Amino acid sequence: MSELILAIEDEEPVREAIVAALESCGYQVITAADGEEGLELLRAEDPDLIVLDLMLPRIGGMDVCSLIREHSDVPIVMLTGLSAEDDRVEGLTRGADDYITKPFRARELGARVRAVLRRSTHWSSEERELLEVGDLSIHAEAREVRLAGRLIELTPKEFDLLEYLARNAGHVAERERILERVWGEDEYIDPRTLDVHIRWLREKLEEDPSKPRRLLTARGRGYMLVEA
Ligand code: CA
Repeated sequence: MSELILAIEDEEPVREAIVAALESCGYQVITAADGEEGLELLRAEDPDLIVLDLMLPRIGGMDVCSLIREHSDVPIVMLTGLSAEDDRVEGLTRGADDYITKPFRARELGARVRAVLRRSTHWSSEERELLEVGDLSIHAEAREVRLAGRLIELTPKEFDLLEYLARNAGHVAERERILERVWGEDEYIDPRTLDVHIRWLREKLEEDPSKPRRLLTARGRGYMLVEA
């Protein structure tokens, strides 16, 4: 399920740019035109992250940030037209998690939001990021894999593939879905790449890679990770 972002910004064109930028990254976005409406939406909708403009009518962004922090540790990315170092420091000490200067690029905003969300998941719910399939444990945030407690070295793609299979453990992951999720849908990829990576994973995870007990083939469909 995609994360919900609350954008608090009074200028409509900027608000629309934020919505477009974040929706194109796959986030759900709700908006507020001022701090009061933003605080109401924070209570009502419980967003995963807030993009907060510094220059807001009535209650300024810094004060909104302080008010949010009285009740919530939701990650905040501050948006500001000012670039003075003082404001950055003040914003961060008042509880914002990151800061981005206007005019911003859609791609930059998306990247900041993603990075802040990743950090906050790590801090607040580390255990959710530990996937266990039998004696195989995958720590998504640390990108660490252990088999019966022993650390297994994987390449980044091998890790992504194993993580995807682990999130679907006990169910067949269809080839097309795996290619789309692990390699990306817009990239040309030889479908055999998947089989090659599966073979490499089996060499690292199976006692006998030719008779896999964890990483099974669902003939004509895809692959399935199970408890050995
Ligand atoms: Ca503004």
